[in-house]
Amino acid sequence: MKKLIITVAPTGSIPTKKKNPHVPITPSEIIETGIRCESAGASIIHVHARNLKDESPSTDYGLFEEIYKGLKEKTNLIIQISTGGRAGMTYEARCERLRLRPEMASLTTGSVNFPTSVYENSPDLIKSLASDMMKYGIKPEMEIFDLGMINNAVLLIKKGLAVPPLHFDFVMGLQGAMPATVENLVFLKNTIPCDATWTVAGVGPAQLSMGAHAILMGGHVRVGLEDNIYYKKGQPARNEDLVDRMVRLSHEFGRDVATPDDARDILSLR
Ligand code: ZN
Repeated sequence: MKKLIITVAPTGSIPTKKKNPHVPITPSEIIETGIRCESAGASIIHVHARNLKDESPSTDYGLFEEIYKGLKEKTNLIIQISTGGRAGMTYEARCERLRLRPEMASLTTGSVNFPTSVYENSPDLIKSLASDMMKYGIKPEMEIFDLGMINNAVLLIKKGLAVPPLHFDFVMGLQGAMPATVENLVFLKNTIPCDATWTVAGVGPAQLSMGAHAILMGGHVRVGLEDNIYYKKGQPARNEDLVDRMVRLSHEFGRDVATPDDARDILSLR
C-alpha cells in the first residue's frame, strides 16, 4: 500500500480560541503549527486566513502571503490554499490568493447547505477557479461534499480545465452533507476514476473513525481543528496531536507515513 499522506487543516473558518485555545489564528501561530505538524508527520497543510481583530475568515491577500512565505521558508510542507468562501463573496476575493502559486489549492465542485448558510459554488465560479489553477500550475484538491460533485470534477478534465490524475477529499459527517459511514466511504472510493487519489475529512467525532478506515482502505487522511476541535469527548485537541494519532494508527496497521516529498510523488506534483 502507498504511504499515508496526512493533511492538517489547522484553522478553517469557524472555530475560535474561545472554543479551543489551540486554534492558530495569526500568521505566526499558523506557521508555528505547521512546523509542529510537519515534525509530527503531516505532509500537506490546508491554509485559511483569519482577521486578527475578531478571528473571522479573511480574504486578505497580505495575510495569505505572510502565511505562505513563512511556511515555505520554515517547512517542506505542501501548501494547499483554501479557495472556500461564504455565499456572496466575489470570485476575485476567492481567487486572488492563487497568485501565490501554491502547489495545491482546494476546489469545491458544487454547492451545499451548511448548518446555517449556503456554501455557494456556481458553475461559473468553479470553471474560473479551475482555469486559474491550470494557468498557475496548481493541483486542485476536489472537495466533495456530495456525490454529484465527483461528476463535476471529472467533467473538468473533459473541458480541459483539470489534468488527471485527480485528487479528491471526501468531506463527511457535516450536517447537510454526506453522513460519515463506511458504506458511503466505500461507495465514494469506488465512484472516482481508477487513477485518482483520495483523502477523507471526517467532521467532529467522524474524523477518527473515517481516518482509521481510510488508512486501511489505502486512502489518505485529513485531520485538524478546521473539522474537529476535540481529541476526545470534552478534551480540546491540538493539531499536532491529531496528526500524531493518525501516524500511530497507521504504524499499528503496518502502513508507512509519507514525507512531504513522498506525497509530491504520490500526488504527481512534479
Ligand atoms: Zn478549509
